[in-house]
Amino acid sequence: MGQLLRIAIILIGIWLVIRMIKKALARHSRGRAPGASAQKMLACDHCGVYLPQSEAVFDGDKAYCCKDHLLAGRGPGA
Ligand SMILES: [Zn+2]
Repeated sequence: MGQLLRIAIILIGIWLVIRMIKKALARHSRGRAPGASAQKMLACDHCGVYLPQSEAVFDGDKAYCCKDHLLAGRGPGA
């Protein structure tokens, strides 16, 4: 009977450890996931509209929402 109790305690212990690992992994992946979806937002240097960094058009370190605003942002003669 004592041995059965010991096995039960060991199984509960293993279950608790697995639960802790699963929780830690879930927290870890949850902390990482927003990095992919909530990417850096940039304001167009010409019209000021906000857009994700991946959709921005760059001219040096300036970001624009589209190529037209990039050309407009450069000004005449560029
Ligand atoms: Zn713009």
